[in-house]
Amino acid sequence: MKSKSILAKFLFVLAPLYLGLVLIGSFTASQLLIRDTTDLLTTRIGGLGARVSLALDVHEAHNYRTLANDLIAPLGVDPGVVCVEFRSNIDSTVIATHPPRVGCKGQQDAPFNVELPVDDFYDHSLFIKFTDKNITEAVNKYLLMTAAVLTLAFLVTVISAGISFRMIVSRRLLALHQAIGFAAKNLHRTRVQSDGVDELAQIIDAYNSLIDQDAERERQLTAANEILSLQSKQDPLTGLYNRRFFYSVASDESHTANYANRAGTIMMLDVDFFKNINDKFGHAAGDEVLVELSRRLKSCLPKNSLVVRWGGEEILVYLEDLDPSKVTNTATLLLTVIGSTPMRTKAGAITVSTSIGIVRLPFNSANRPLSLDEAVNIADAALYSAKSSGRNRAISITDLQVSKIEINDLIGRDFETALAQGTIHVDTIIGPPGALPQPLPLDRAA
Ligand code: GH3
Ligand code: MG
Ligand code: MG
Repeated sequence: MKSKSILAKFLFVLAPLYLGLVLIGSFTASQLLIRDTTDLLTTRIGGLGARVSLALDVHEAHNYRTLANDLIAPLGVDPGVVCVEFRSNIDSTVIATHPPRVGCKGQQDAPFNVELPVDDFYDHSLFIKFTDKNITEAVNKYLLMTAAVLTLAFLVTVISAGISFRMIVSRRLLALHQAIGFAAKNLHRTRVQSDGVDELAQIIDAYNSLIDQDAERERQLTAANEILSLQSKQDPLTGLYNRRFFYSVASDESHTANYANRAGTIMMLDVDFFKNINDKFGHAAGDEVLVELSRRLKSCLPKNSLVVRWGGEEILVYLEDLDPSKVTNTATLLLTVIGSTPMRTKAGAITVSTSIGIVRLPFNSANRPLSLDEAVNIADAALYSAKSSGRNRAISITDLQVSKIEINDLIGRDFETALAQGTIHVDTIIGPPGALPQPLPLDRAA
């Protein structure tokens, strides 16, 4: 049964149990008591039953009342027995008594007597009425047995209460306690089975809904954190990594993890005449070009490469462990992927070309390894050399024989001089013909 209250559950189980035990016990006690007395009398009376039947036969035609003298008198009257009477079961009429009439008359309503059915056929019974002493003894015995029965019933009920308490309350409290303990230590959150609709079930349900809300909040928090973490390393327009993320992975403190000391290639790309695109097709179209450019770059580069929006329309590509012989091919691929097919925008198709500066890492200049920043700056210098030498091309530095001070000058302004003097060696890779928008605006030409 489903109850709203634990107390009701207990009462529903224990009250009937207790009452039942008391009833069964009392009934058994009284039966035992009657049987005790009956046995006692039966022993004393011996074969009286047969004699009564016989006497009935004999006296049937005459007078039943002579039975008292003929049959009952020989029994004698025990000091504990007030009288013995022979009674018809059909109409309860007393047929014969011993002592005759006198003894039984005053004891008609004696509170305690024993019935001895002596003959089913004739529907007659012997009734033995006891003295007060016997009655008191019997009552005392009965009370004792009743007390024993009540005590036993009480003990059984208490044990049942204990078992019921364990099943109804303790087991669930323990499960709840364990679950709360785990949740408090942030180990794991488990729901607890409420089992029913009582007060404890309501507490467990409340705990479960707290756990559910907590789990939901955690899910939302994790999702929000993932978005934040993605936003913190991604450029929102193009979905490319941002510069901060690149530095966080590339400039690791440890020597071997730092990209400057590992085999890799940096390619610095810049869209040619991007201002023209913005001016001619609008800023929105310029945005679309940047998105498409990023998509094309990612689609043709290996999965382990990093494509970073360095700023504006400048993009850094880091290719891990790229074989030196493949640098030219890769540069050609990038120039082609971007420049060979016009980009579709809402404002129309736009032909886009890029210039690229390339440095391979680790880069030793005059036997001194370049730092990551120096390498990026040299790639930038190469990019602007590609711009000044006509755009739509890549310039890849293959050798650099300059001192540390000279590197700074080189980065600043003397790249072309160093190129002319032969302290710097480069490969030039030209992009697809026709990719560079024409005619060039005068103020943009290098
Ligand atoms: P060059 O060939 O010398 O690179 O010429 P350029 O016109 O591309 O010159 P520059 O690289 O200096 O121009 C960058 C322009 O890119 C300037 C800025 O208005 C534009 N730009 C920067 N970020 C964005 C952007 O997110 N969206 C759009 N539409 N334009 C941008
Ligand atoms: Mg540009
Ligand atoms: Mg630029």
